[in-house]
Amino acid sequence: MKLDVDVLRYLSKDDFRVLTAVELGMRNHEIVPAELIDRIARLKHGGTYKVLKNLLKHKLLHHDSTKYDGFRLTYLGYDFLAIKTMVNKGVFVSVGRQIGVGKESDIFEVADEDGKIMAMKLHRLGRVSFRAVKSKRDYLKHRSSYNWLYLSRLAALKEFAFMKALQTHGFPVPEAVEHNRHCVIMSLVQGYPLVQVKQLQNPETVFETIIGIIIRLAEHGLIHCDFNEFNIMIDDEEKITVIDFPQMVSVSHRNAKMYFDRDVECIFKFFRKRFNMTFQESIDDNDNSNEGREEAGKLCFSSIDSSAGFLDKELAASGFGKKDEEDIQRFIEGEVESDTNSDSEDGDLVRNLNEADDLNVDSLHLSEQDEGHESHGKEERFEEGENSGSEKEEASDMEENNDNAVGIEAELTKSLSKQRHSAIASARRGRKKLGSRNSHKDKGGRSSQNAKVQMQMSSW
Ligand code: ADP
Ligand code: MG
Repeated sequence: MKLDVDVLRYLSKDDFRVLTAVELGMRNHEIVPAELIDRIARLKHGGTYKVLKNLLKHKLLHHDSTKYDGFRLTYLGYDFLAIKTMVNKGVFVSVGRQIGVGKESDIFEVADEDGKIMAMKLHRLGRVSFRAVKSKRDYLKHRSSYNWLYLSRLAALKEFAFMKALQTHGFPVPEAVEHNRHCVIMSLVQGYPLVQVKQLQNPETVFETIIGIIIRLAEHGLIHCDFNEFNIMIDDEEKITVIDFPQMVSVSHRNAKMYFDRDVECIFKFFRKRFNMTFQESIDDNDNSNEGREEAGKLCFSSIDSSAGFLDKELAASGFGKKDEEDIQRFIEGEVESDTNSDSEDGDLVRNLNEADDLNVDSLHLSEQDEGHESHGKEERFEEGENSGSEKEEASDMEENNDNAVGIEAELTKSLSKQRHSAIASARRGRKKLGSRNSHKDKGGRSSQNAKVQMQMSSW
């Protein structure tokens, strides 16, 4: 899938408003009914259906009419929402070439106003095993919107939180700059993934540094869980930077020892094969009786003085809580068990890997004139029983997300949250119907200025 940011220049404020409405609707509808989108978006002069058609044309939405007429966001649609939000915040002004493609992410270069280049990671959790997620629905029942949108957002939140915490503790990781939805902006690491390196000046030093990082991580109560030559970057001075954190776990995880040993073994194996390094002994946790085997002593998981709790305290401060960790672990572990089917349901979203090599997104400079968003004075109401999810849960989700919301998103979120609260309040008062169906119509004389999105090409 190409990230054709060129499309951004053709999208109006109404387009983004409707796109955001679909996103909000997806909190409790896998496919959002067109009528609900219209009600959430509340375009001043109507015209939601025309906008939907336009978004469909640009593949930002997917149309589904199997059960009822509805829409859902595509990855591209979600990408654009995140990109637009970040651009509006001034985090970056242009998107450049793709620099990485993982099983569950796409990485692009982005540049800020001063021309500083950073890395943008767009999480695609569930891209490969969307079916696996679906098959796990039984224990995910409590959250009908437990989908790639939610999982990718969690992965980004976790990655950002870990990167920040690790950075604070002096680990060689990229600088965590910003996150929004499924997107993380971080500093660009100079160098290459270790897997691409055929020769090293000082393989022993590099090996020791890497093993040292695994040990220090464990001392801080953490295990990377995907610590291998693909997630270790190395520069010309043979300086190491560790990347890719969504799967990290605490040393108190029930499979901690297995994950730790696997990380260590990956590094031993790689250095043995690639750089012909020889090691005296294998890693055996039970073998620490053997004196003189310094390496084995060092790599014994149980002998590491860990300070678990790092996760809970410091990560919660970044907005990544215990429940988030439980949700993401369920997905990761479920996937490990049954990730054999790569035939994703989202056929149009599955990347043709061959495409990635010659993907060269035109650079784009965006600047938006700030517009005041007056809020609608009128409250919109839903009919009771409209949504399948828990109203309360959704209302609190809305509040939770308000911190990150800007512009249109903030306005819609606030408005929807209000609707929820009033729906809950009315339900408590025992009312059957909550307002009339067309009460959403905007009768307040809001003067909405036309969106003026100025975009200029810039080359960098
Ligand atoms: P995934 O979770 O999909 O494996 P990674 O975070 O490992 O994603 O990134 C995939 C690839 O993108 C990496 O192997 C690397 O080449 C590139 N990459 C990721 N982050 C950065 C960064 N901050 N700077 C430079 N390249 C990066
Ligand atoms: Mg990776």
